Amino acid sequence: MSIDYYKLLGVEKSATKVEIKKAYKKLAMKFHPDRAPEDKKVAYEEKFKEINEAASILGDEKKRQQYDQFGDSAFQGGGQQAYDFSDVMSQFRGGNFGDFGDVFDQLFGGSGRRRGTRQRQGSDLAYELTITLEDVAKGKKETLRFNKVEHCESCNGKGATKFNSCDHCHSSGYIKQTQRTPFGIFQQNAPCPYCHGKGELPQDSCKKCGGDGLIRKDKELEVTIPEGIEDGMRLRVSGEGEVGQNGGPSGDLFVVIHVAPHKFFKREEGDLHITLPISFSQAVLGDEVEVPTIDGKAMLKVSAGTASETILRMKDQGLPHVRYGGKGDQMVKVRIEVPKKLSKKQKDLIKQLKEEKPQKGFLKKIFG
Ligand SMILES: [Zn+2]
Ligand SMILES: [Zn+2]
Repeated sequence: MSIDYYKLLGVEKSATKVEIKKAYKKLAMKFHPDRAPEDKKVAYEEKFKEINEAASILGDEKKRQQYDQFGDSAFQGGGQQAYDFSDVMSQFRGGNFGDFGDVFDQLFGGSGRRRGTRQRQGSDLAYELTITLEDVAKGKKETLRFNKVEHCESCNGKGATKFNSCDHCHSSGYIKQTQRTPFGIFQQNAPCPYCHGKGELPQDSCKKCGGDGLIRKDKELEVTIPEGIEDGMRLRVSGEGEVGQNGGPSGDLFVVIHVAPHKFFKREEGDLHITLPISFSQAVLGDEVEVPTIDGKAMLKVSAGTASETILRMKDQGLPHVRYGGKGDQMVKVRIEVPKKLSKKQKDLIKQLKEEKPQKGFLKKIFG
């Protein structure tokens, strides 16, 4: 049976990590077994498990990618290790619904320490861009339009507009912690658990962002697609991913390039392949023919006596090499077209040709 984890969490397929976290938090609070009415304990537990499973997969970039590609079958049958829910359950015990930090870190692949002012890098984003082979030949400037999570300007990313100083740590953000170790007693500064090292406590919740300090915004960004780029290559735009937390650096934006198939050309690295129909008489007598190239048109000399399926090379008429510089070639495979409809005059001419004695050499080749 296949479970739609996005649906389960009530988020879009394009949802960001922050949005997934938000949705998870809401549902985990609602369906926590400790909060279940007496007659619904089992149902709540089931649901809670599903929510955690969904979050553990969608919250992890690698797992999410696998899930998007293969569905939840990617995580069944022992291939992937399932998430241990007893851990999550115990984290929530004791009515500590306020601090989801550790649970999130476990589910969302953090380091396990969210308390304090530890800086966190924002998530990377992927932008899928389809370009044409003509774009590959010339390179391109492209304006990407997307939305991403950024700091809320209303509260400067702090989640609140009014703050009280934290009494627990006297606004320093740190408390002295005594640690007994085999080597003696140590005192060290630890981030204040009340204000999470900030030295102040929010008095309100920002109306614009709901207290997260983060908000989704539309973005426009111009990127330069280098000529010769290949299908599946990724361009990294540094710092254009989602915003970091606690002053951490932003993630990166990856532009994933897809090159659309071309009507005429097949690409083989820098070389372009094309099949060109020519007439029987052109093949026999030779001709100068017009050939489409990726830059327009060019003339190609077909020598007299060219056989069908002969490949002619047009030097430097291919695509630029993105890595080594220089250009590939265009390879033209000529194919002699056999006409299906002929005029009376054409038929007579062909008949005359048929009655002509074949060349001696030709007969010799066949009959020895
Ligand atoms: Zn705000
Ligand atoms: Zn404090």
